[in-house]
Amino acid sequence: MKATLTFCGGVRTVTGSMHLLEVNGEKVVIDCGLFQGHREEYYKVNSQFCFNPSLVDALVVSHSHIDHCGNLPNVVRNGFQGKIFVTKPTKDLLKLMLLDSAKIQEEDIRFVNKINARRNLPLRQPLYTIDDARKSLKKIRAFSYRKKFKLTAHITCAFFDAGHILGSSTPVFEVSGEDQTMRIAYAVDLGRKGIPLLENPDIVENVDYLVIESTYGGRLHEPVADAKMQLAMTINRTLERGGKVIIPAFALERTQEVVYYLGLLIKERMIKNVPIYVDSPLACDITDVFVENSDSLDEEARGLIQKKADPFGLQSIHYIRNSEESKKLNFDKQPMIIISTSGMCESGRILHHLRNTIEDPRTTIVVVGYMAKNTLGRSIVERHKRVKIFGESFELKAEVEVMNAFSAHADKNELIDYAQNTKGRLKKIFIVHGDMDQSEALALNLINNGFKAYIPKKFETVVLD
Ligand SMILES: [Zn+2]
Ligand SMILES: [Zn+2]
Repeated sequence: MKATLTFCGGVRTVTGSMHLLEVNGEKVVIDCGLFQGHREEYYKVNSQFCFNPSLVDALVVSHSHIDHCGNLPNVVRNGFQGKIFVTKPTKDLLKLMLLDSAKIQEEDIRFVNKINARRNLPLRQPLYTIDDARKSLKKIRAFSYRKKFKLTAHITCAFFDAGHILGSSTPVFEVSGEDQTMRIAYAVDLGRKGIPLLENPDIVENVDYLVIESTYGGRLHEPVADAKMQLAMTINRTLERGGKVIIPAFALERTQEVVYYLGLLIKERMIKNVPIYVDSPLACDITDVFVENSDSLDEEARGLIQKKADPFGLQSIHYIRNSEESKKLNFDKQPMIIISTSGMCESGRILHHLRNTIEDPRTTIVVVGYMAKNTLGRSIVERHKRVKIFGESFELKAEVEVMNAFSAHADKNELIDYAQNTKGRLKKIFIVHGDMDQSEALALNLINNGFKAYIPKKFETVVLD
């Protein structure tokens, strides 16, 4: 039996996860994410595959973050004929995430082509269209956690809970030939114990090879349990001085977690009952998917939904889809809490709220998610004196509260624990999905703990034996 793994994307960087498992000529692609970067690099990287899509037998997607699934419509556009395997909640989330991404692709190219037309430059095609996204959704097949299913003649798969976002999984592939059987686990991304709403990550045992993420391979997070108290203190401080609490959050998962905590804080009378707004149409739709998939949430959240205790505040929180209603908030000077997208403050409605409140020292901007380099969010985290919003310069007078406890990625110790829990026969660990300093820190730590660890290069192929 000849088995190989090729690292097509998402190595030595955090976005664009994509890998190819080949066994006796059968081809399975694991994750199909978008690489995120500036426009030219973005189009270049996301247009090339290290495989011929029409020759791939099956595609397995670990979860619905766009850096793991966002290039699916492009693979389908380029001739992929097989099925796409995911968990049930991921199937529901992909419907929203891929159509939203396709809309962004089309809008971006419309914008580029307007400029190109003016300059007499050739017009460009989007990476994919809404129609391509719809075609890829038809290819999806969903399976429950821990249930084995067949991908090809020699490869089966089972999804284990990754505890990272709703529906996230660690797919475990079982490869069997005449002479041997081997198991490969793909823990990219891997969550943490105690994340609100989610079950803890499943322990995966008896694997021969482990592919693991390293976003925080060299760093430690604050305990998840600290997040609720820190949020309460920040909100109370802001409300007392009559300010607005502005929370930039990703529409998927982080918004629902923040809302869930706010609900608990109000119920426990730890914060005042002030108006709360979730200002993002996508976040509104995703919250509905959470309610529909409550059987995949943790016991506490499930219990609340069964008791009709409204953990997402659908009765009390104002969910805003309409842009006119969103603009009205600009004129309302009362203290309030606004959760809005995008999470890194690069686009979307959050920009209006920041423009309106950033020069008011009574405001607090609460940072609950990862802010990549060169984003407005990162400038806010680094507390630059002046920041640019819609091309205009603003003085950053608002308070900035950064809460790492919300992280959905395992930290340095949690990654090592995960590897140790696999027990027994682990031959090698491949470290992916991290900036090089973080991947190296994790590799060193794993080697010090007696493991064989390796950081592959992009497009490198390794033999699994
Ligand atoms: Zn993720
Ligand atoms: Zn990721």
